[in-house]
Amino acid sequence: MSTTHCPYCALQCAMHLEPAPDGTLAARPAPFPTNRGGLCRKGWTAPELLTHPDRLTTPLIRRHGRLEPATWDQALDTAAHHLNHLRQTHGPHANAVFGSGSLTNEKAYLLGKFARLALGTSQIDYNGRFCMSSAAAATNHAFGLDRGLPFPLTDIATAQAVLLAGANPAETMPPMMGHLAAPTLIVIDPRRSATAQQALDHGGLHLAPRPGTDLPLALGLLHAARTAGHLDHTYIDQRTTGFQTTWAQAAAHWPERTEELTGVPAHHIRAAADLLGHAARNRSAYVLTGRGSEQHATGTATAGAWIDLALALGLPGRTGSGYGCITGQGNGQGGREHGQKADQLPGYRHINDPDARTRIAHLWNTTPESLPGPGRSATELLAALGTPDGPRSLLVMGSNPAVSAPDTTRIKQRLAALDHLIVCDFVLSETAQQAHVVLPTAQWAEEEGTMTNLEGRLLRRTRAQHPPPGVRTDLQILSELAPRLGADPHQFPHDADTVLAELAHASAGGRADYSGIDPHHLAAGHAQYWPAPATAGPDTDPVPSTPRLFLDTFAHPDGRARFSTPTHHGPAETTDTHYPLWATTGRLLGHYQSGAQTRRITELATTDPEATVQIHPDTATHHGLTHGDHAQVTSRRGTMTARVHTTPTARHDTVFVPFHYANDQAANTLTQHALDPTSRMPEFKVSAVRITPAPDPATEGRP
Ligand code: SF4
Repeated sequence: MSTTHCPYCALQCAMHLEPAPDGTLAARPAPFPTNRGGLCRKGWTAPELLTHPDRLTTPLIRRHGRLEPATWDQALDTAAHHLNHLRQTHGPHANAVFGSGSLTNEKAYLLGKFARLALGTSQIDYNGRFCMSSAAAATNHAFGLDRGLPFPLTDIATAQAVLLAGANPAETMPPMMGHLAAPTLIVIDPRRSATAQQALDHGGLHLAPRPGTDLPLALGLLHAARTAGHLDHTYIDQRTTGFQTTWAQAAAHWPERTEELTGVPAHHIRAAADLLGHAARNRSAYVLTGRGSEQHATGTATAGAWIDLALALGLPGRTGSGYGCITGQGNGQGGREHGQKADQLPGYRHINDPDARTRIAHLWNTTPESLPGPGRSATELLAALGTPDGPRSLLVMGSNPAVSAPDTTRIKQRLAALDHLIVCDFVLSETAQQAHVVLPTAQWAEEEGTMTNLEGRLLRRTRAQHPPPGVRTDLQILSELAPRLGADPHQFPHDADTVLAELAHASAGGRADYSGIDPHHLAAGHAQYWPAPATAGPDTDPVPSTPRLFLDTFAHPDGRARFSTPTHHGPAETTDTHYPLWATTGRLLGHYQSGAQTRRITELATTDPEATVQIHPDTATHHGLTHGDHAQVTSRRGTMTARVHTTPTARHDTVFVPFHYANDQAANTLTQHALDPTSRMPEFKVSAVRITPAPDPATEGRP
């Protein structure tokens, strides 16, 4: 038996893996603070993919339009030939790299190094841009540091009240609800999600704003809290700057006006402000945000508005209260710290920082001048593929942008326009299906490495079994590809502990300092939260760790948190007679991200086999639909098909579609590429759509 962590979300539940009677591995929960002995159905069923018939076990090369088996040398040589040729012909930025928030820290680090050092390209970004980037930008502004939860998750279990804005952990990470059993919940969500229902069932509140109006709702709550006398003016004076700037915006958002903007009744706004405000006075309240508030063209400002509310109530940087962002992807935290972002070097350093460039260049045995500068953000990078000024090749690792990126019709066209597409994956994902070279990779239970969970805690991923013959780890692939591009092989080790040691050294002194992270500490069960600086001296903690941030000071030079200037602009597009409804996207209990993994798990595929569109029964009737019908949902970008699921928990003006399905059921055919000006987050959460009856493929053609 071995103990590791779930391959999916950022809760990173611990699990034991043990041999099942049929020779496969079976998962069962292991004790760990975040999951407290629980797993959701995704975790329970995760081992099925290890031996799935769809598992890739040999490299593939496209010949005469078809992907055909090849040897590793053939596949790597082919990939290297094209990368070298494009670099020589069009320059280093003709090659691009697309990473993932599901990669281990070691992979994220080595992938960034591969792009900058082996390829010499600035064109690297990753799918975490679609996940956490707005909250990251907002927390960097507010606190000077971005760690999703700046406190252990267990802290919230004893709070009196928790406000959850745009998060639905009852479905996305169910074991987290164990920490939310005691606090009174205030849930902000356009639909009555499972989490919102739990809040209502236990004396809490559910506020259902119109999609795209979280920002004015946060300002309305701030207005109501101030009117009721809940603000902590001593804290505001002593620990923050900029309150008056925020208040200049909030002053115009009295509850009745906020009701007009958001659709949330004024008395609910006052009740929520009182509930949260009373708990805040007792230093026992948290504000937590998720993708529902963040995946907007105004995502950074919206996350900032929720942080402003928390600051005005005196929550961040105090024991028993705080603000946090609930990270989604398994290594969404660590994945954004070590250099696979377009503007970043390891240690959460900015790539334009001269000192950072000098330090990293020295470590990589090159010169600061030869390190490329910032590249394009994920959406902009994908949109530029195959264009005259854009990259002509793409290496994808751990991501499926043909399903997960906004406006997928356009993305698939851009992938098809590439001279060369290389995909590293363990199944033939929708992106891999378009590739010229596919490299089969090991899965989570077959490799070593570290992940950083939603609390900023480092976790050890432990190998339970060896990968199937013919499969290599992502680190091995980078290690074997880099020398073929002329790089020094010593700069690209494939052993995870060796890469972690280098990553730790590279991060020393950076904002995300991992220099004191030691795999042996982790293996021994020690909790290590970054920053974990390795500092020598007789009084130094031998196991450096910072479970709680900001208790004495925020990370800005003056030690004060910053209020923001939240201005409401609304969604990037509007409804009209052709597109009269709002569509918002999200996750189901039984599926994860693009669904490339969970759509192949028998139990999960059986439970949720096809895309559904959740719609209020009255709205469905108005559009000629009833429960169980087949429908087309159409935006200004494209059309998806889905089974109609009527529910009185939906708003009359809004439909909900899950984004785990592909091809004609892909929700991201609807979504738009309007970007947040700071984080470059696409507006996944708001699209103007219409819904119409469609022929049912299950019965079409029958007499
Ligand atoms: Fe835990 Fe998330 Fe895995 Fe479910 S998907 S078992 S909540 S880590």
